[in-house]
Parts: sequence; structure tokens; C-alpha cells
Amino acid sequence: MTNSKPYLPYSEVLKAKFGCKVYKVTLDAGFTCPNRDGSKGVGGCTFCDETGSSSRAQNKKDSITLQLHKNIEIMRKRFKAEKFIAYFQSYTNTYSRLERLKRLYDEAMTAHPDIVGLSISTRPDCVDEEKLDLIASYRRPNGYLCLEYGMQTIHDESLQRINRCETHADFLTAFELTRQREIPMCVHVILGLPGETIDDMMATARKLSELKPEGVKIHLLCAMKHTPLEQMFLRGEWEPLGQETYVQLVCDFIEHLDPQIAIHRITGNGHREGLVAPRWLLKKHEVLNQVELEFLKRGTRQGDGFKTASLV
Ligand code: SF4
Repeated sequence: MTNSKPYLPYSEVLKAKFGCKVYKVTLDAGFTCPNRDGSKGVGGCTFCDETGSSSRAQNKKDSITLQLHKNIEIMRKRFKAEKFIAYFQSYTNTYSRLERLKRLYDEAMTAHPDIVGLSISTRPDCVDEEKLDLIASYRRPNGYLCLEYGMQTIHDESLQRINRCETHADFLTAFELTRQREIPMCVHVILGLPGETIDDMMATARKLSELKPEGVKIHLLCAMKHTPLEQMFLRGEWEPLGQETYVQLVCDFIEHLDPQIAIHRITGNGHREGLVAPRWLLKKHEVLNQVELEFLKRGTRQGDGFKTASLV
């Protein structure tokens, strides 16, 4: 597939598969998270606010069907989207009993005729064989299915620093079980984690190229209101990356990624009211343009660093 950008954009992968504009509709199904309810930890990851890293587009009091119908109409008008993916986004969307998960996923699959499938976001330590078998049952030949894992980094020390309460080994176990069932995956990573060097971040990119999930979502660590990271920022114990540094890092990271991995996102989704720092993150289009310009300046594209690395 040829694409218009120096990397493989997820939107183009969707367009090639479905022949039209496809958008994800975010859902809040009222889940919680083992890193908040005390079963793994309390207080959550240092960057996670009370919405459970959601886009805040939904009201969890609404049924899944109502959330989908409301937002499909908005997206149809705003983005001229024609087909939609039901995206279980907020908190940990496999953290419940199997029967409840099945009821929610079934409802999403059948709520609207223009839904092409499911995307389910979760922690790697919150899946097991039964849950993965259930998720695999939603695979359709002409449909869409994706399990999104918050891996964040391959370095356990970094995971500890953000109070993740899970390890890279947890991710590798979940990845293997998911791959065995041929469930496509998107792996989330965060750039700018406290204590991480450029080499640490590139090691994460190289590991992803080795594992080769179908997609990667790249986030910048940012401080949201009412989070431990906000407190660290206010006390001067943590500083976010600058815009220029982030652009350089994103390009470096993408250069190290296998060119067949779709890039779902390269900017954060911190919402305007809740974002404390860095505020430049709100200039999403400017950041995207700068990434493209930087690739142009370098004369490189996704996978160039990866190919070089595999030759040595
Ligand atoms: S695992 Fe996800 S939902 Fe839970 S605290 Fe961390 S970011 Fe928030």
C-alpha cells in the first residue's frame, strides 16, 4: 500500500480496507481499573485522571447503544465518516466478569448498522484465555477487531515510576496469548517518561518492530488536572518535553518501527479543560505538520532506522 505520509497512517489502512472514511466512536462502559480499586494498586498511573484516560466524549450513564447513536450522528456531520468502530476506551475494558463483557460487546456490535467492529482498550494483566476467546469470537472477514494494550514502555523501572503496577513480562504474556488467537493489536507507548533516555525509548521501538503488532499509538506524557503527575509538575519534580524535542523523538521512534505497523496516533489526546502541561499539545495539527516537515528535512520515513538496525 502506498501512502501520502512518511509513515503508515491508520486512517489510510482503514480506508483501504473499507473503501470509505471510518471513525472510532469512543465509549465509556462504566468499567474501573485494578490500579485504582486496590486489587493491583491505588491512585492509578501517575498520569491518569478521573476519566480513566478517556476522551470525555461520552456519558457513562447512557447505554452503549445510546452513546453510539449520539456520536455516530456527530461524527457523520463533522468528519463525513460513513462507517464506525465501537471503541471501548475509558479505564480497563476487559476488567469484569465474562458475561458482562459479552453483553456489552454484543450490544456494541449490533447497536447500529454502520458499526464495522470493535476496538477494546485494556491493561495487559487484565486478559486471560477465556476473555481472549470471547474477543476473538468478534472477528469477521469484512469487519474490524482490535485489542489495544497500554504497554507504555518495555522498561520495568519506568513502569514503576509511573505506578503502573504491572511489568513488561505481563505485556509479553498477553501479547503471545492474543497473537495465538490472531486478534489484531494496537500497542500504546508513552514518550517522555521520567528517567527514560532516548536510547531507552528507541529500545522500545525496536522491540515493537520485533513483535510487530498491527498498530502503535504514540503518546506524549502530559499532566492532567487532579493527577499525581500534576502535583509533580507543580512541585518542579517533573517537566514535560518541549515541542521541538517531541517532534524529533517521534521521528526517531517512527524511523525505528517496522513500516508495516500502522501509526494510530502521534499526538496526545489531552482534553483542553483538563490539560495542565504541556499546553502546546493542544496544537495538534501544528505538531503533525512539524513531524512531516522533519521527515522531509531528514529524507527518511518509517522503518529506515529499523532496516539499518537489522542489517548490522
Ligand atoms: S491502567 Fe489505565 S485506567 Fe488504570 S490507572 Fe492506569 S491509565 Fe488509568
